[in-house]
Amino acid sequence: VSARLIDGKAIATKIRTQAAEKLASQRSRGRTVCLAAVMLGDDPTAATYARSQAKDAESIGLNYRLVQLPATADAGQVTSMIDTLNRDASVHGIILQMPVPKGLDAFELQQRIAPEKDVEGVCAANLGMLAMGRARWAPCTAAAAFECLRETGINPAGKRAVVVGRSNIVGKPLAMLLINAHATVTVCHTRTANLAKETRRAEILVAAAGSAGLIGAEHVAPGAIVIDVGIHRVKVRDAAGVESTKTVGDVRIDEVAPIASHLTPVPGGVGPVTVAMLLANTVAAAAAI
Ligand code: NAD
Repeated sequence: VSARLIDGKAIATKIRTQAAEKLASQRSRGRTVCLAAVMLGDDPTAATYARSQAKDAESIGLNYRLVQLPATADAGQVTSMIDTLNRDASVHGIILQMPVPKGLDAFELQQRIAPEKDVEGVCAANLGMLAMGRARWAPCTAAAAFECLRETGINPAGKRAVVVGRSNIVGKPLAMLLINAHATVTVCHTRTANLAKETRRAEILVAAAGSAGLIGAEHVAPGAIVIDVGIHRVKVRDAAGVESTKTVGDVRIDEVAPIASHLTPVPGGVGPVTVAMLLANTVAAAAAI
């Protein structure tokens, strides 16, 4: 078997096109949809994300409002800004850019976002709704990984799925999406006794451990669908000893591609779909308000 690569860029384009069509229909009814991003301080990573989100949003006709507060803003000032955006009828989605300055509790601030505007799905209420099978939408990365799986056309119902990772924004919501789709789900984490033994049982394997190259041939059953959520910049040295940086996932693609039936590449797999999912969730939020 040689794995079919799941084309994340193509999935992202499809999601953006559908979102653009919905936005155009909203506009024809005199409504402009707006995503507000709260950025604290001037962290270069957060600024880079904000710039690329703004470009993506504007490319499909979604307003992007960057709300900047100084790094010295205290929790009271940030929550009062979030409250203002919660009340603002011209804002449909709210996100808090990461990382937040030291001394502020990102989790507590995210819980302040009104659930119906929480387009990243980070509020406890939204994770709870997902657990109960009544989600408005799922956290962007989990939703993106699920979308990559859907693209294979293979129904997860009755399949053994193994998720490596139990974070609140990826592993747990993804496990819930899979349960809601009737898969039989195992969640692995750092205390899992024998990772390869668990993952080798998977017909659907999702790697979301945040550990470069963790998953190799010994972890994968022949014919498994493998979704790689990990994104890592690593230094590599070529035969001549020249060093460069490369983006890799949690999966050793050269070992797993000959074994798996379907595989998401890194880059070009789950990553681009995640970015598109934020836009799709914002459009869904606007439709529901
Ligand atoms: P996290 O560090 O919060 O969680 C990692 C989880 O994996 C933890 O639950 C931990 O128990 C588990 N884990 C770690 N090492 C393990 C091991 N050796 N064996 C078994 N379990 C192990 O990370 P996260 O925020 O969930 O992100 C996971 C990965 O996804 C990261 O590489 C991150 O860069 C990537 N990510 C990608 C996107 C995207 O758009 N594709 C978005 C967000 C995060």
